[in-house]
Amino acid sequence: MSTYKNFTVETDADGIALVTWDMPDKSMNVFTVDVMDELEAILSQTVADAAVKGVVFTSGKSSFSGGADLTMIRGMFTMLADERAKDPAAAAQKLFDVAGRMTWLFRKIETNGKPWVSAINGTCMGGAFELSLACHGRVAANSKSVKLALPEVKVGIFPGAGGTQRVSRLANAQDALQMMTTGQNLTAQRAKAMGLVHQVVEPGELVNAAKQMIKDGLKPVAPWDEKGFKVPGGGVWTPAAAQLFPAAPAILRRETAGNYPGALAILKCVYEGLQLPFDTALKVEQRYFTQVLQTTEAFSMIRSLFISMQELGKGARRPAGVEKTQIKKVGVVGAGFMGASIAYVTAAAGIPVVLIDRDQDAADKGKAVSEKLVGESVAKGRLTKEEGETLLSLVTATPDYSTLSDADLVIEAVFEDRAVKKAVIEQVEAVISPTAIFASNTSTLPISGLAENSKRPEQFIGVHFFSPVEKMMLTEVIMGEQTGDRALAMALDFVGKIKKTPIVVNDTRGFFVNRCVFRYINEAYDMLIEGVPPAMIENAAKMAGMPVGPLSLNDEVAVDLSQKIMKASIADLGEASVKPEHMKLIDKLVNELDRRGRKNGKGFYDYPAKPAKKSLWPGLKELYPQRPASEIDVAVVKQRFLVTIALEAARTVEEGIVTDPREADVGSILGFGFAPYTGGTLSYIDGMGVKTFVALCETLAATYGEHFKPTPLLIDMAAKGDTFYERFDPYGKVLEAA
Ligand code: NAD
Repeated sequence: MSTYKNFTVETDADGIALVTWDMPDKSMNVFTVDVMDELEAILSQTVADAAVKGVVFTSGKSSFSGGADLTMIRGMFTMLADERAKDPAAAAQKLFDVAGRMTWLFRKIETNGKPWVSAINGTCMGGAFELSLACHGRVAANSKSVKLALPEVKVGIFPGAGGTQRVSRLANAQDALQMMTTGQNLTAQRAKAMGLVHQVVEPGELVNAAKQMIKDGLKPVAPWDEKGFKVPGGGVWTPAAAQLFPAAPAILRRETAGNYPGALAILKCVYEGLQLPFDTALKVEQRYFTQVLQTTEAFSMIRSLFISMQELGKGARRPAGVEKTQIKKVGVVGAGFMGASIAYVTAAAGIPVVLIDRDQDAADKGKAVSEKLVGESVAKGRLTKEEGETLLSLVTATPDYSTLSDADLVIEAVFEDRAVKKAVIEQVEAVISPTAIFASNTSTLPISGLAENSKRPEQFIGVHFFSPVEKMMLTEVIMGEQTGDRALAMALDFVGKIKKTPIVVNDTRGFFVNRCVFRYINEAYDMLIEGVPPAMIENAAKMAGMPVGPLSLNDEVAVDLSQKIMKASIADLGEASVKPEHMKLIDKLVNELDRRGRKNGKGFYDYPAKPAKKSLWPGLKELYPQRPASEIDVAVVKQRFLVTIALEAARTVEEGIVTDPREADVGSILGFGFAPYTGGTLSYIDGMGVKTFVALCETLAATYGEHFKPTPLLIDMAAKGDTFYERFDPYGKVLEAA
C-alpha cells in the first residue's frame, strides 16, 4: 500500500483494511482537497487489491472529524468571485462541479463493491457524517464525546454531499427534517434509534465491532440500491406524508420567517429527492446546493459564523510576540449575579478560582451558584458526580483579599459604582503580584477612567461578560487608552480557555454590543410613541430575524436599568443625548407604574404565575393613540430595526472603536442575536451594497428622524464602491503585521 499524508492503511490477516484518518498538522480531521484526493486514491487501491475484503474507516484523533476545512470553503468563495468576474454562467457550472466533488466521491465509495464500515469514535460533523452515511455500516462508540450532526444549516447552507438523501432514506421523514433543519447534535443512542447508526459499542470495542460486521457478511450495497427498497414510513405518497409535507414549510416559516434559503432547500431536497432514483436525487441536491451557495445569506453566514468565529476564537486579535500565558489561578471580586457565574465558567475550564465578596456569607452565596449549576449538569448526565466535585473544589469562596496574591488574573464584578470600584482596585493591587492583570466587568463605565485608579494602567483591561454567563458565547475585551499587549494577550487567552469568542474593542460608552442594543430598543420606543401597535413591533422584529423582540429584551435587562443609563447619559453628555419623549415614557413606566421588567413581574409585558405565559401589557396601547396596523408597512418596521443597529455598528467603525469587521459581525450575532442570516451588522450593509444602504438610510431619515442619516464614512464608501471587508480588510492587517 502507498503511504499517505493524512491516512494510514493497515490490512489485517482477514483482509480488512483499517483506514485511519489522522491529519498530521491539525488537532481535528477536516476535509480538504488533499484529503479528498487521498481518499479517492485509497478507494482505488482497496478496490484493485484482491486481498482486501472490506474497509473499516476511523479516526486517529479523539474526535472523528469536524467536517469541511475553513480554507477549502474560503477558497471556494474566492474561486466563485474570480470566475464570476470573467463569466457568470461558467462560474455557476464550475461551482456545481466543485460542490459535487464530495457527493460523487462518497457515492463511489457506496458503490465500490466492497463493504465499508465507519467506526465513529468521537464528534462527527457535516461532511464526515455524510461520508459515514455512504458507508455500508456505521458503528459508534458509546461515549459522551460522540456527537453526530449535520449542522450546515447553522452556517447558511445544508448537507449537500448526499446527506439530505441518505438521512431521509434511513430515518422517518419527520425526524430527518427536524434533524437537518435545526442542525441538532445526536448522541450515538439517538442516532441508532433514528436508524442512522447500526451499532453502539463500548469505545474499546469500536474497531473490532466494525471489522466483525464485515466478517459477518455485510453486503456492500446501500439499501436504496437494492431492488424493492422502501423509504421508511412509505415515502411522499402516504397519508402520513400528506400531513407532514404541506405543514413542514409553514412550521419552518414560523421558526425562521423565511430568512434562511439553506433551511428551505432541505425541505425541497427531501420532498423531491424521495420521488426520484438515488443518483438523480443526488443531482437535485447538488443543484440546490449550488444555488444556495450563491446566496448572500450563505456567503455572509459562512464568513461570520464559521470562518471569522473560528479565527477570533483562535486569537486572531492576539498581539503577535506575546508568549501564551498559562493561567494558573484567577480571582473574581464581587460574588453577585455576574461574578458568581464568571467563577463557575472559570472552574468549568479547569482553572482554580477564588471568589471574593464583602463577607463569607456573600462569597458563599456566590459559590452556591456553581453548586446549583453543577447539580443540574450532574442530574442531566452532562457531568459525572466526580467531575462535578472536582469543578466545585476549584472554587474557593472567601472575603480574604490576600488569597489573590498568586492570581494571574483578577476580574472585578462589584457594584456599578465608580467609588466602590476604585476602592476594590486599590485593595486588589495592594496584594496581587506585579505581573498580574486586572480586568473590570463594568458594562457602562469607561475603562480608561477606571484605570486612573490603577498604579499600572497598562495591566488594566475590560473583560465584559454577558448574562447568562454560562450560556452566552461572546465576551467583549475592552482596551483602555493605556492597556498594554500583555494584558490583551492574557485576556484573550482566558476567554479562549473558557471557550467563549472574544471581540476586542476600544473604549467607549456602551462598548460595541450595548451601543447597538440601545439603538434597537430606542427604535421600539420611537415606534410605540408613533402609535405602532406593540404586538406589531415585537413580531416585525422577529420577522427581521431578531431572536427576541425589543420590548421583551428591555424587560429582561430591566426597564429601571434603562432609566438609570439614560439618566447617566444626560448627566455626562447633556440633555440632547436622550430624546425627551423616551425619558418621559420610561419615567412613567418606572416611577408612576412601577413597571420595571421581568424582575418585578411587570414591564412592557405582564408576567403571570406559571404555567401561564407572559403577554404584552394591555395598558401599553393606552399610552399613545394607536395607528391601524393596516396602515403600517411591516417591511419598513423590519428595516428600521436592522438599519438603526447596522448604522450604529458602522459608527463604531468610523470612530475606531471596532477596527476589524469580523468583530462587528460576530459580536452582533453572538452578543444580541442580530439577524444571523445577514452574517452580522456590517455584512448586512456589505450584502446589500453600501450605496443601497446609504439610499435606504436617507429614505428612512426623511420620515423617521435624523438618527437614520448616513455617516460621512458610509457616504464616502458608497461613492467609492467600497465594502467594509475591503476597506477594513482583516487579512490585509495580518499581512501588514507579518
Ligand atoms: P450584583 O449587585 O449582583 O453583584 C455585585 C456584588 O459585588 C455583590 O455581591 C456585592 O456584595 C459585591 N461587592 C460590592 N462591593 C464589594 C467590595 N468592596 N468587595 C467585594 N465585593 C463587593 O451586580 P452584577 O449584576 O453582578 O454586576 C456586577 C458588575 O458586572 C457591574 O459592574 C455590572 O455593570 C457588570 N455587568 C452586569 C451585567 C448584568 O447583566 N447584570 C452584565 C455585564 C456586566
